[in-house]
Amino acid sequence: MNEENRTTQRPAHTPSSGGTTPPADPARRAFLGGGAAALAAWGLGAFGGPAASAGAHGAADSGFDPFAVPEADGEYGLFELDYPYDALEDAIDAKTMELHHSIHTEGYRVGLNNALKELEAARSGDDFGKIQYWQNQLAFHGAGFMLHLVFFKNMAPAGTTRPGSSLRSLMRRHFGGLEEMKRHFSAAARTVEGSGWAILGYQPVGDRFIIMQAEKHQNHTQWGVFPVLAIDVWEHAYYLRYQNRRADYVDNFWKVVNWDNVEARALFARGTRPS
Ligand code: MN
Repeated sequence: MNEENRTTQRPAHTPSSGGTTPPADPARRAFLGGGAAALAAWGLGAFGGPAASAGAHGAADSGFDPFAVPEADGEYGLFELDYPYDALEDAIDAKTMELHHSIHTEGYRVGLNNALKELEAARSGDDFGKIQYWQNQLAFHGAGFMLHLVFFKNMAPAGTTRPGSSLRSLMRRHFGGLEEMKRHFSAAARTVEGSGWAILGYQPVGDRFIIMQAEKHQNHTQWGVFPVLAIDVWEHAYYLRYQNRRADYVDNFWKVVNWDNVEARALFARGTRPS
């Protein structure tokens, strides 16, 4: 059992068949389905401003929606990958990809839905006796689900995308250049303690791109940051092929970065700001 889906101290979750699920309320449906509504919830307002529509891969032009995940009966569904499990062999083997997506990420999805359901039951029964436990579950599984969505969408088969001019320009402004950003990101990924992540994110306060390490994925955030590029460096993400050689995994990760997705996320994040 690896560190991520440690279940010994957590309740056993069974995937919902939908049969016992209460009907989705309109507000939740709108959140799950609507990028604009979700963006408003992040305090970013309506999307599609000058910066978003200016670039070649502008979010407004492409209809890019980083919040889109399948939804059934008001619950989060497991998003599909945009490529087969064996498509990233230049960096990550097919078996790791399969386990990571179908077992680990699915576990977060089930845990997140379960936490939401339990919190809804607490509200309707006005019984908050286990509030601390379920808020912890909501944070753990919710952070896991959201970060894996970013991570898997951040990747594509080697050689199929390259950094666009808008992203290069942003990276030059905030890091001195794309290569400087990559060196900083790789160093963060190589050295984050234990099971963690390196994350390139956009902080609307100050209109700034930053790189963060996350040791426990629900902690150590900087509120308001929108994740643009994330690498999972928990051991399950690379151990079958790389064992203890995390640095080799980090180096090879760059071969399979989906630069179109990274640029779209970066422009989407800045969508309401003038460039
Ligand atoms: Mn993972």
